[in-house]
Amino acid sequence: MKQETKNFIEKIIEEDLETGKYGGRVHTRFPPEPNGYLHIGHAKSICLNFGIAQKYGGLCNLRFDDTNPEKEEEEYVRAIIEDVRWLGFDWEDRLYYASDYFERLYECAVELIKKGKAYVDDLSAEEIRKYRGTLTEPGKESPYRNRSVEENLDLFERMRKGEFDEGEKVLRAKIDMASGNINMRDPVIYRIIKKPHHRTGDKWCIYPTYDFAHPLSDSFEGITHSLCTLEFEDHRPLYDWFLDQLELYHPQQIEFARLNLSYTVLSKRKLTRLVEEGHVSGWDDPRMPTIAGMRRRGYTPEAIRDFCDRIGVAKANSIVDFELLEHCLRDDLNKRCPRVMVVLNPIKVIITNYPEDKVEYVEAINNPEDPNAGTREVPFSRELYIEADDFMEDPPKKFYRLAPGREVRLKHAYIIKCEDYEKDPETGRITTVYCTYDPESKSGSNQQKKVKATLHWVSARHAIDVEVRLYDRLFRVPNPDDKKECPDFIDCLNPDSLKILTNCKAEPSLKNARPGDRFQFLRLGYFAVDPDSSEEKLVFNRTVTLKDTWAKIRFKI
Ligand code: ATP
Ligand code: MG
Repeated sequence: MKQETKNFIEKIIEEDLETGKYGGRVHTRFPPEPNGYLHIGHAKSICLNFGIAQKYGGLCNLRFDDTNPEKEEEEYVRAIIEDVRWLGFDWEDRLYYASDYFERLYECAVELIKKGKAYVDDLSAEEIRKYRGTLTEPGKESPYRNRSVEENLDLFERMRKGEFDEGEKVLRAKIDMASGNINMRDPVIYRIIKKPHHRTGDKWCIYPTYDFAHPLSDSFEGITHSLCTLEFEDHRPLYDWFLDQLELYHPQQIEFARLNLSYTVLSKRKLTRLVEEGHVSGWDDPRMPTIAGMRRRGYTPEAIRDFCDRIGVAKANSIVDFELLEHCLRDDLNKRCPRVMVVLNPIKVIITNYPEDKVEYVEAINNPEDPNAGTREVPFSRELYIEADDFMEDPPKKFYRLAPGREVRLKHAYIIKCEDYEKDPETGRITTVYCTYDPESKSGSNQQKKVKATLHWVSARHAIDVEVRLYDRLFRVPNPDDKKECPDFIDCLNPDSLKILTNCKAEPSLKNARPGDRFQFLRLGYFAVDPDSSEEKLVFNRTVTLKDTWAKIRFKI
């Protein structure tokens, strides 16, 4: 169900190619601000920008919009580069920084002043806000609006030299305080920030605003189609105004709807709060919707790209079901993950008619979806572990797994029958289940006996101890951004989003697994080895369960 039809952006680009609007060029960019880690919403923008360039034989730049030293850090730059690469995209030698353009941007500001199109304002931030007016009332002109060009040039230069304190003066574009578009009411284009910048150090103490730097950076780089999210639609007239006044090349801005995902927040401000207040272990916590979190959780770049492909681009905001993302993930993991057996909540099974010292190696298919994945040998012996859930003392009718007198198959091995069991007299917990096995029932033999359930298991003597981290949704409501339901989104966190199981038993073939390796644990889901793993103990993250609820949701609509 991939969309084969062209989206509205592709239609615009094809039209531009036909009319030769940009001389046949297609040049896009992905412009993150390095003030946080990238999230799945950014992935949509990355896939779109790099995807469009690939599709039309064009280029896509990676550009850091690093104009605010207060929130930006080198750590974020490194993380963003790693994430875009991991998603599978390449900007070749076109890695740019808005900070590389600081001198040029300053010159543009001087030119605006010289043209009488910008002025230094002494109003405080608070006053500027008051003077701005509202959607229904026009703004009021600043008393400093009509300073002479000479005075403005002098003051702006002195701002650069550090003669004024933060907040004392700003440079504003001189447009129209009565404009119906608030963005056009003399927006601030430079402010004094006395903080070192992660790339330019102490060289500057005035910094251009995003609205000034962004359209100019696009223009400097010769971007043809500047793709951005809908909230920038109202900024487009301002961007065009700057380029007109400065007589610069005009990229074409096209707005699309941002991605929203159910049970998730996708705002860097909110994600930063989750990290800083310790609600998660960090930006790469496997519950985070960040690319780094998803990578650690076991997501593949292929699954994320497929998801971005399927959601497409549109002009209207909507919330995409998290289940669709998980559906894409399962689709990909199913093809690539070897199947292994791991018991999460073990109870002991003793096969009373199996010789004490005997070890048999049964053949197990690594991945029925992949004919090249081959087989492996799994040890079978008298004492095994099975899931506590797979045994019931007194089962209801529909329970087909192990119970007194019942028979089940052990995957890749034999049929066993429960003869007896033992419990801890204090807790009532089952400790051991005694079974007999049918030596004629080995998997793959001609044996025709049918049983209703097949269980996974691990030979006790050969098992390795592993830790497994089970994740659930980070939020307990579909839309944590909804102020009515969650006045503070933090209150809607799911208290049970992480469950750690420390006593899991894995088949010995997992001994050599390394961080990042992915597996399907039979009957349980997909799991990836976490970087917290050590020589002593492997740690697994559950990437996603096996049960796909997407089809159900899709047909419900
Ligand atoms: P946030 O709202 O999370 O703070 P942002 O827009 O401020 O995100 P930027 O670093 O400026 O973060 O984003 C870089 C690019 O990614 C921009 O072009 C932006 O429009 C796009 N982008 C950000 N969030 C989404 C989203 N949810 N869906 C699609 N594109 C997005
Ligand atoms: Mg932004």
